[in-house]
Formats: sequence, C-alpha cells, structure tokens
Amino acid sequence: MAVTEPAPVAPPAVHEGILRRQSLRESAARTYARSLPIVPVRARGLTIEGADGRRYLDCLSGAGTLALGHNHPVVLEAIKKVIDSGAPLHVLDLATPVKDAFTTELFATLPRQFADNARIQFCGPAGTDAVEAAFKLVRAATGRSGLLAFTGAYHGMTAGALAASGGAEDVRVTRLPFPLQYRCPFGIGGERGADIAARWTESLLDDPKGGVPAPAGMILEPVQGEGGVNPAPDGWMRRMREITASRSIPLIADEVQTGVGRTGAFWAVEHSGITPDVMVLSKAIGGSLPLAVIIYRSELDTWQPGAHAGTFRGNQLAMAAGTATLAYVRENRLAEHAASLGARMLARLRTLATDHPCIGDVRGRGLMIGVELVDPESAPLTCGTGGAPEAPSDPVLAAAVQQECLRRGLIVELGGRHSSVVRLLPPLTLTDEQATAVVDRLADALAAAERSPHRRITTGSTH
Ligand code: PMP
Repeated sequence: MAVTEPAPVAPPAVHEGILRRQSLRESAARTYARSLPIVPVRARGLTIEGADGRRYLDCLSGAGTLALGHNHPVVLEAIKKVIDSGAPLHVLDLATPVKDAFTTELFATLPRQFADNARIQFCGPAGTDAVEAAFKLVRAATGRSGLLAFTGAYHGMTAGALAASGGAEDVRVTRLPFPLQYRCPFGIGGERGADIAARWTESLLDDPKGGVPAPAGMILEPVQGEGGVNPAPDGWMRRMREITASRSIPLIADEVQTGVGRTGAFWAVEHSGITPDVMVLSKAIGGSLPLAVIIYRSELDTWQPGAHAGTFRGNQLAMAAGTATLAYVRENRLAEHAASLGARMLARLRTLATDHPCIGDVRGRGLMIGVELVDPESAPLTCGTGGAPEAPSDPVLAAAVQQECLRRGLIVELGGRHSSVVRLLPPLTLTDEQATAVVDRLADALAAAERSPHRRITTGSTH
C-alpha cells in the first residue's frame, strides 16, 4: 500500500522540540516513548498522524485498549452526548443513568451462567487497581492470604499485582508453570507439556510439605499478553478450573487485555467454556478512556464497605464510551471478525516464517498476535514440540524490527520474557486490506532488520 504523506501539521522544529523537551523533562521510567519517538496529533481508526505529518498504522492500540481504533464515531458520539446532557462527569461510586446503562450492557456480554449470579465492583481506573481489588475480595472471602500465579504473568505495577507478576519478593505468591507451547519448560510442548504443567500444579497444592501458603485464589491470563502472547490451551484452562473448584480456591481470570473480542471470543474464557469466580476487566471496556472493574460470583461478596475504595471510580465519560464500544462489538460480531481475520494473519505470518529462520515462532489468538524472533545462528538451547530445536531469542533483532516498522509507518509493540516478541494488537475493526498492509510492512521491516549489521554488534544473545 503506497503511503501518501500529508503536509506536516507543525514545522519540523516543533515536532523535534516536543520530543527533546520530553526527554529532558520526563521520567527515566518512561517506556513506549523511548522506542516510539513520535508526536501524535490526530488519529482515526487504525491510523495515527504525527506532528511531522507522517502517518502510522497503529498496531499497539493504546496497549490493546482501542477495540474500535482511534476516535470511532460511536465512541465520540457517546462522549458528546454525556457532555451535552449536563451530567456530572465525576461522581465517586454513586448511581447514575450512565453507569446503570454501562452495567446492563456489560452484563449482557458476559457468559450467562456467570452474569446471572454476579456482582460488580467499580475500581480505580487502571487494570492493576482491579487486580488488587480481586485479591482483597478473595482474601476476605476465604480468610486465606496466599496467591497462585503463573510464570510469565503480567497483572500490573502496584505492589500486590507486581508480586503476582514475578516482579517483587512477595512470599505469599506461589508461582506455577504456565503451559508454554514454544519454549515449554519441560521440553515437550503440546498437550503433553500442558498436562505435565497441570500435574505439577495439582501435586504442589496437595503436598503438605510443598510450602504453598493457603491460597485465597488463583489468577491467570487466558492468553498471556505482556508475557509474549502465550495462549493457554483450552484443556489446561479446564484443568485449572477443576483443580481450583475441587479445592475451593476462587479462580480469577485476568481479562484486562484479552476481553471485548480481542481473542476471537467476546471474553477469552469462552474458548474453554469455563466459568471463573472473578473476572478482572479494564482497557477496552472504557472505550479508550480509563475504567476498570471486577465482576465476581455473588457468594464471594463478603467484604466490608470500603474494603476497596478509590476516588476515581465514577468516570462517566469512560462508562459512556465503554457502553458504546461493548454494544458495537456485540452488534457487529467483531469477536468473530477478529477470529477469522486473526487466523488469516497468523497463516500469512507462518508462511513468512518459512523464508525467515529468524522467526522462531508465530502464535496468537484472534487479533492478539506474537512473532518471536530468534538467532538461528546460535546453538539451539532446548528442544521443543516433537524434539525440534529452539534457538535463543534475539531481543536486538526484535528492537531493530520495531524501528524498521516505525520507519515504514507501522507501530508495533515488543513483549515476552526478553522483549523478543513482536506484538500486534490492531483494532478489531481492522479490514482485510489493512491487515495485508500491516503484514507487508512487517515483512519488509523484518527483511531490512535481518540485513542490518545488528548481529555484529550483539555481545551475545540472551535467552
Ligand atoms: N492485567 C493484564 C493482563 C494486563 O495486560 C495489564 C496491562 N498491560 C494489566 C493487568 C494492568 O493494567 P494497567 O496497566 O491498566 O494497570
């Protein structure tokens, strides 16, 4: 697809000045801004326009937030309607017609057997706050304090959520093996690898000397996002449901990233047909504005008033934008669209892998796609499914691919244990033509990055 560059909306000095001031004034902890030095000024659907006039296809989508892409008309209309009505924009956790409509729409999208007996808690506006709320809820309900979480998980950046994500020394979290297909820790992959991962969990929980603090809950992502786009096999999800149910351990499904059609079902738990005890939802439910909730089986509702509070739990614009988004995804069957278009994109990327030995793995579900880059010239480290060797991951190449993508007007994210997985999270409104343009640009970027001398400056790949 030819890219016609519109006229810059600001002279180059303005664009460069903004970037320079950002790097001088903002925190060393800033993230996306480091690898994506662009200054977005306008956006619509898949496209972002920078202050320099360049256009980008945005496959980061606000870290998976923009189910309908940027500034979708139904979202803008819903926001304008609230503003024009004179409704208060901020109301703590008070009841409003806007909130009532959001709750009704959200419950209508949930699996019936879950929604019929569920309660909702509006949380502070970030996913991590809802994760914290889920932990408090199950701790209060069970009287236990331990948590079960999985290798490679990501649940947020606040202390408790970070502990469950492997980033803090919280001894109450027991880390269990996630059933990776590629880089299976047992060197097997497939159903057998997932079976061993489940047995490990089962035997550890039943071992009186296993050192597992009595668990208040188990938290899992149906598809690990930040961990490198790792879909959990459906059979393994059902095993986790059985294992937790038979031991009265609440199962918490973190659908912050996988929800609202992203994986090809409205909620990713639907693939396996399990009913969790708690669902953690954020990102796309706010229709691009901040919103986070937990929904849970009503028997767990034993915590006290104020057990989880927060000032910003009543963002009316986010609720209105979220209602419009949920309804649009449901009415236009965008989950099905994500499933079929995602499958076609995966197939094309797998074809690409046959010509590029640096593609170690292509995986995903729906429009949550990952391409793991490896260094095929290094000695294989492990054997994967069927005994196939797996080369070490190549984060340097991945970073080069991300930059080559940006040069070609494509925004992609990196993820995975070593930031060696190129991630695609396009809006669910992606068309066939746009999907082709995305894969074409990625293929082109990959070829350019492979040709670049990046490997010669590598001091040794990590794995
Ligand atoms: N859970 C999952 C599965 C996530 O992907 C994220 C964010 N990437 C979070 C929780 C945390 O959400 P937030 O960044 O809004 O706190």
